[in-house]
Amino acid sequence: MLAPRADGSPFVYLDNAATTQKPRCVIDRLVQFYASENASAAGATQLHAQARGRIARSIGAAANELIFVPSTTFAISLVAHSWGNTHLEPGDEIVVTGLEHHANLVPWHEIAHETGATLRIAPIEADGSLRVEAVASRLCARTRLVAVAHVSNVLGTVSPIAEIALAAHRVGARVLVDGAQAVAHLRVDMHALDVDFYAFSAHKAFGPTGIGVLYVREEVMQTMPPWSGGPKVVEAFSLAGTRHAAPPQRFEPGAPNVADALGMAAALEYMRAVGLDAIRSHERDLLAYAQDRLRRVPSLRLIGTAADKVAIQAFVIDGHAPEDIRMRLARAGVEVQAGQFSAQPLFERLGVAAALRMSIAFYNTREDIDALVAALLDRDAAGDSR
Ligand code: PMP
Repeated sequence: MLAPRADGSPFVYLDNAATTQKPRCVIDRLVQFYASENASAAGATQLHAQARGRIARSIGAAANELIFVPSTTFAISLVAHSWGNTHLEPGDEIVVTGLEHHANLVPWHEIAHETGATLRIAPIEADGSLRVEAVASRLCARTRLVAVAHVSNVLGTVSPIAEIALAAHRVGARVLVDGAQAVAHLRVDMHALDVDFYAFSAHKAFGPTGIGVLYVREEVMQTMPPWSGGPKVVEAFSLAGTRHAAPPQRFEPGAPNVADALGMAAALEYMRAVGLDAIRSHERDLLAYAQDRLRRVPSLRLIGTAADKVAIQAFVIDGHAPEDIRMRLARAGVEVQAGQFSAQPLFERLGVAAALRMSIAFYNTREDIDALVAALLDRDAAGDSR
């Protein structure tokens, strides 16, 4: 994917927040499973359990605290329906923030409506940062849950999760973190963050599509009923009644996705082999470089300049539609994203209709940024052919 195209033209991939490319070892792991391990159910079950343990270890969790899910979106819906339906009552409050992706808004909006709970929104600052006080000042004895993104998919802002969790737990609320944009960039450790729910998708962290995990603190998982029926969800069945299987199996109906679980484990271990500190410092360098170069493009405004952020940078160029610029960049072999990135409330707060977004992974280079800026400065690429 990252090699030049067959005709020799470059391919510059700066859309990693949408999905990341896959290291060879991840692709090889999928091939190995299907080519030589996809035989006995017992063997596959063992490999699946091993993958769960390896993924758990990489985020500082216990294996029985991880539920395999198809996506972050699915994980948050599962919590809303299973936990939300059993723990929320009329008058209860759910706190979300002004930088959430729809995946962490829609389920809460729906479940609040169904249960009679109220949604409260902690606003962000002008630079895109989220202050712990913005959340803390909206907490009260009726707050049951704080749902917050670890990293904003538009602004790159890193939320102060550990501080938010401390404040939320003080009033007896649970904390759910949407980690979709964090895991490719940050060291994510359940002990250090001390949250109750943490969801992320493998495909945004160098792993396969169609799989993710939901971490749930063990004592919380015990209180959650299954969301869907079927074998594996029940331990014993008679028409008179069923007994639910123990978690996490209770939440994983049907045949397990063994290959992708192995691929996801391989991806997380690959990141650790590259070095999480090395990744962080390389990306910090690239973000500072990109911000500096982008500021030199006439009429370009950066959106999201919080001090603590990952290498995701949104911007607009006054007088030009983001989608037009995106298409022109794509023709020059530079992939970025344009739109509202499923974060409409955030765009209302920002007061812009849409934006461009470039998002970096550890395999990007300064040359990639140079190619982006050169394409933006190109009169055609900038859409300025007058
Ligand atoms: N949350 C955030 C912050 C995201 O960026 C995304 C994907 N853009 C999601 C949730 C949803 O992830 P998925 O599509 O893998 O469920």
